[in-house]
Amino acid sequence: MHCSKLTHDDEFWLNDGTIVLVCQTIGFRVYRELLAHQSPVFANMLESSTPSSEESYQGLPVVQLSDSPTDLRHFLGALLPKRHILCAECSYLSRMLIDKLFIAATIRLAHKYDVSSLLLQALEPLKEYYAVTFDEWCNPHARYALSVDTRSCAIAAVNLARLTDTPSVLPLALYDCCLLGSAILDGWQNEDGVTEHLNTADLRLCLDARERLAQKNVLAFFSVYAVAVEVECRNRSGCEKTLRGMVQAGQAGVGKCEILVDLLLPHPPMCDACERALAGRARLERRRLWERLPEILGVEVDRWDAIVS
Ligand SMILES: [Zn+2]
Repeated sequence: MHCSKLTHDDEFWLNDGTIVLVCQTIGFRVYRELLAHQSPVFANMLESSTPSSEESYQGLPVVQLSDSPTDLRHFLGALLPKRHILCAECSYLSRMLIDKLFIAATIRLAHKYDVSSLLLQALEPLKEYYAVTFDEWCNPHARYALSVDTRSCAIAAVNLARLTDTPSVLPLALYDCCLLGSAILDGWQNEDGVTEHLNTADLRLCLDARERLAQKNVLAFFSVYAVAVEVECRNRSGCEKTLRGMVQAGQAGVGKCEILVDLLLPHPPMCDACERALAGRARLERRRLWERLPEILGVEVDRWDAIVS
């Protein structure tokens, strides 16, 4: 390799390191034994790398990798931490905002280099964010503090779920993708300037699911509002007028894909019995939609009902 063009990585150039990993033109000097012990893929790769005139730098063996330097930096940050330790069990992390690029890169490379314990830890925030319980979904503050700042991050989440065979992430991540509308074609551009897209099969799945989501939305709305007043109703004409008015007003929003929203909409007051019944129907319908989400989106998730609290 052309070692004269090698730039030392700012963070992972450890002066007593025993091997140089090269991504593009960036060199990472790290500990060969530490890598080999944690990753069978690295162990195999490093076994065959011995210092030679063609593949060495300052007398150290050099291994060329096809990963982006940014991804490798994130991965090494988790594997040989200089700054922080990734530990999904640590409760303090639940109050920290975990960087999505760090998580995504760590998942990708932990999978690629077969570092199974790190992969499990890195998947945890993703699984918690996209496979919350119904109660947590209703309370966004309870969701894992992953730095998901735009809905299109779900594109990366779907791809990571497919890569690592983590189906529990798919219902909510695909649901978010469906809500992107035509912006789904733009993909997700991360801060590194890399744009990620869904594969054709998942794109098709989302486009097909949009129609089903809209249909379920209509049915749920009418189940909540197109009903008779309660037997114990104490203001029959007023409550009937309110429900009728909500049905008429709701028809304008018919056809939207967003089905997990609160179905209890602002409305003129009704009697106590009708208010209680309305709130109950709204919660029940939302809960039913939640439970049927995998089916609506066309994915299979084992124990989805068990995930629901
Ligand atoms: Zn009433």
